[in-house]
Amino acid sequence: MYAEIVFPIPHKGGFTYEIPRHLLGEAVFGKRAIVPFGKRTLSGYIVRTFDSPDSPPEFTIKQIHDILDEFPLFDEDGFRFYQWLGDFYLGSLGEALRHADPYGTGVESVKTIIAEKSVCAQMLEEETRKSGSRFKILEYLSTHATVSLKHLQKKTGVKNINSTLRKLEAVGALTVISDMSSPKVREKTALFVRLAIPLETLYEMLPEIEKRSPGRVRFLLALASGKQPVYPIQAMIRTTGISLAAIRALEAKGVVEVTRSRIERKTTHFYTEDEKEIILSDKQKEVVDAILPSVESGIFKVFLLHGVTGSGKTQVYIELAEQTLAAGKSVLILVPEISLTPQMTARLTNAFQDQVAVLHSRVAGGERLDAWHNIAAGNIQVVTGARSALFAPLQNIGLIVIDEEHDSSYKQSELSPRYHAREAAIMKAKIEGCPVLLGSATPSVESMFNAVSGKYELLTLPERIDNATLPDITIVDVSKGENEVKQEGLFSKILIDKIRDRLKKKEGIILLQNRRGFSTQLFCQSCSTVEQCTNCTVSLVYHLNDTLLRCHYCGYTKPVPRICNTCGSKHLIHLGAGTQKVEDEIEILFPGAVVKRIDSDTMDKKGLLSSILLGFRNGDVDILVGTQIVAKGLDFARVTLVGVVSAETSLWLPDYRANERTFQLLTQVAGRAGRSSIKGEVIIQTLNPDHIVLRDVVAGDYQAFYNNEIESREGRGYPPYTHLCLAEVKHEHEEKAREGLTEFYLEMLKHKSIVYSTPPTAAVIRKIKNEYRYQMLMRSWRKNDPAGNGLRKAIEESYTRFRETGKHKDIRIVFDINPQSVV
Ligand code: ADP
Ligand code: ZN
Ligand code: ZN
Repeated sequence: MYAEIVFPIPHKGGFTYEIPRHLLGEAVFGKRAIVPFGKRTLSGYIVRTFDSPDSPPEFTIKQIHDILDEFPLFDEDGFRFYQWLGDFYLGSLGEALRHADPYGTGVESVKTIIAEKSVCAQMLEEETRKSGSRFKILEYLSTHATVSLKHLQKKTGVKNINSTLRKLEAVGALTVISDMSSPKVREKTALFVRLAIPLETLYEMLPEIEKRSPGRVRFLLALASGKQPVYPIQAMIRTTGISLAAIRALEAKGVVEVTRSRIERKTTHFYTEDEKEIILSDKQKEVVDAILPSVESGIFKVFLLHGVTGSGKTQVYIELAEQTLAAGKSVLILVPEISLTPQMTARLTNAFQDQVAVLHSRVAGGERLDAWHNIAAGNIQVVTGARSALFAPLQNIGLIVIDEEHDSSYKQSELSPRYHAREAAIMKAKIEGCPVLLGSATPSVESMFNAVSGKYELLTLPERIDNATLPDITIVDVSKGENEVKQEGLFSKILIDKIRDRLKKKEGIILLQNRRGFSTQLFCQSCSTVEQCTNCTVSLVYHLNDTLLRCHYCGYTKPVPRICNTCGSKHLIHLGAGTQKVEDEIEILFPGAVVKRIDSDTMDKKGLLSSILLGFRNGDVDILVGTQIVAKGLDFARVTLVGVVSAETSLWLPDYRANERTFQLLTQVAGRAGRSSIKGEVIIQTLNPDHIVLRDVVAGDYQAFYNNEIESREGRGYPPYTHLCLAEVKHEHEEKAREGLTEFYLEMLKHKSIVYSTPPTAAVIRKIKNEYRYQMLMRSWRKNDPAGNGLRKAIEESYTRFRETGKHKDIRIVFDINPQSVV
């Protein structure tokens, strides 16, 4: 038997390996195999097994060393999905399959073996094949209780160690523990206790025990109630007041038995909300009723829910999830970045308790690994998380929800395949046969286009819950002279007055400034030089806490210079305000106010975001200052004022999505205000008061924004009218980067009947981490190339020819299908 194996590398094809006889039952489709690859040992995915190679092999076929997994990581449907993911985004199948890995269990992961020495010794005696791998392993383990897999492999020289260990584990000779890199991901254990004597015996003993130590009786009776097979000791100590020493004493007498076993880790959610009894409004019910039939009959269909901020979309998801569970199916709910929206987690946990798993990158490794196993075992029916939750091994999916579907965090922009979780979720639903619900107050232009053209079904929630009204939005032109909008630092007089008023009333205030740090430029007034990073062509950002200049692209830091590096002048000034500066000025203007800042600098500390949000909800915090994080999903009834310090922080981008982003960000942040009976108000400070997007934001007119934007996209040849692909080359030598990409461009020109390619240019940020970046944009029109396959085929062919010339061996071109931005 042979297996075709693909590796998580850019190379597209698979490789043939022979399955040795002892691995015949184990080496099956969907598992990872450990194989020799050149001089290295790699793990790859078995995507096919067959009796004999189709054609005589060119190379000697090597044997599989070992099988890593106990169960397959994907089935036929899952495989089709990963195939699509690789093909659609011009990545390799192996790179796509990498997403199927249980978190932290690559070959690099450390495995520890805990041996039952006596069992091993006994089995060793019974072993007949005295030189087999089983024998060698048992021999070592009968004298060593714990050993790392690596060490055991070295000591015994056994190649198929994983599969042998699994067999030994099955008969109770040992336990294998997966660590990501110890001690990061380790299975956790705790002490448990159970009654070791029959109830009658206990009852006979009780009077005696009660006489000497009455405290133990409560404990023993609790054990005797028999509600659980075993009881966690910590909880028993807490609830019955018994001490560990007393339990140990009872153990010594044989009354109870204490064991140590594996426990499952659960994410602690610092942020919690009280449960509310909610009865859906008629509008909400209509939405649920429109979707439910597709859930029940398992029909693929995409729904776009356009509901204004505070219209109760989250409640609709929860109701649908409940109904889906009732129909015996599971639910996947994706959110842009779940750590930014502790509220969603809190509400789902309230509704589904133990049935929900939360997956995202800030969940600790061990918790994620346990959650993965739990989902695969079918113990979890609701999975929520950021885009990677899409790859959770959830079975029997009845509904996929994409909350805030417009959010750009859904795009994977760093690793190949550079997928968009919304597009990928739709494909997954198509394969699984279930509906998808996309929800947003500001739908992406693409999704609305699909709804308008009838591909998706459009549902709406045009009003806020409980007749709350949308906030009034005022634009303040801060380019005007002093007399009209007297400024103090970053703040116009009107915004200062409003803040003072809300502080007096103890109402909540949110201030948005979409840049972190203190100042974004250190500017020399004498020679106009801006301090730049030495590795990147970007200006360094000044951070207050450590008084350093910091590069946001490569992490380079340096102390703040006193004099200009170029001309020696002392006249250096800070330009471009970030969140720290906003916080700083507010503290000077309102010394009594409690101000908290949330941006990715504060997000790194575990639990900090949740405690800030709790404080803000309770009224202990008066003002929340932050980047776009504060615009996402927060629902606090006491917020009545939102201030946008500078609308320009998103308008400046020379990108085709700049208008869309700005409309979304400002509408979303405005939507944080006035979510209850007290009307909210929004102040937007800007240098471009006549900007068309700002007018649409003020009017709350999504339709006007959309109509305008869709017309301009057509005129300029951008999605949804075209399919785009951005090609990028990075190289330490600028010439090489440019020449390499130019060569590829010439190949692409051969396809100009269907693909329009722009000549290579230096990227807007020309250098990052000492590598020069060159880019070119390719596009095909939807009317000639409906699914974009023409574009993909042209790129594949050109890239193959480009590779074949062999001239630019050290150049790798990275492709990004439908990039979120083209800068
Ligand atoms: P959205 O996600 O559309 O911004 P939410 O789902 O956060 O809106 O709802 C806004 C607020 O209204 C929340 O506090 C939610 O608990 C509440 N809410 C939602 N639906 C109802 C309802 N039918 N009755 C009462 N309150 C509701
Ligand atoms: Zn200077
Ligand atoms: Zn840098």
